Amino acid sequence: MTPINLIFFFIFGLIIGSFINVVVLRYNTGFSFMKGRSKCFSCGKILSSLELIPVFSYLFIKGRCTSCKSKISIQYPLVELITGLIFLITFWKIGLTLFLPLYLIIFSVLISISLYDFKHKIIPDGMMVVFNILTLFAWFLTHSFQGQFLIPSLLDLFSGFILFSFFAFLWLVSGGKWMGFGDAKISLGVGWLLGLSGGIFAIMLAFWIGAIWGIFVILLKKLNVFCSSITIKSEIPFAPFIILGLFIQFFLEWNLASLMKILAQ
Ligand SMILES: [Zn+2]
Repeated sequence: MTPINLIFFFIFGLIIGSFINVVVLRYNTGFSFMKGRSKCFSCGKILSSLELIPVFSYLFIKGRCTSCKSKISIQYPLVELITGLIFLITFWKIGLTLFLPLYLIIFSVLISISLYDFKHKIIPDGMMVVFNILTLFAWFLTHSFQGQFLIPSLLDLFSGFILFSFFAFLWLVSGGKWMGFGDAKISLGVGWLLGLSGGIFAIMLAFWIGAIWGIFVILLKKLNVFCSSITIKSEIPFAPFIILGLFIQFFLEWNLASLMKILAQ
């Protein structure tokens, strides 16, 4: 693992992140992902090849359209950077293995789901189906490579359903107020990707991160009283927290034993 390799995957991630921006923008709009160049929302100016370079072009044009000077959302370079980092970390974590392309695709789908959820407060079923099929495939690959289709691995197969039931229960009891049904559907794949114990840790992380974010939002709202220029939406989608929890857990591989070790120190 040389620095060149790491830089390569980071840049590869930046480019895929740029593609994710386009996909999410055009998803369910009838526009093709492949055809047609991106353009400015305000004046319709078609972006030049230079302006399509991830992150750098945004810095270079200082976040404004070169033609009409209207502001371009920080979302674009942010999604590119996050995707770049996730690609770099994933490569660092699992190296050049057969699993690498599969995990990179799964994480790209997850980034798309998060972005769509942030923008529209809903998770498209199409993306969800792709995510769940890919994680089931990853589960299958992991277990067939180890050459053991034994009872513990069967438990992992059910782990998706167990996590799903947990969120479906919260959704049902609260009438959709605490959790959306989309959160239940996404936890299906979380279980398949991380197994039962890993999946539970990912969900736990998601609740922690969600709580911290919630406090942050409340504080910002308090500030809002003094400074009216800050506006923050109170309705927070939960799926991005589940996805963040999944990614941290994928990276740290926490389990009860390692947690006890940390707590004992
Ligand atoms: Zn413009």
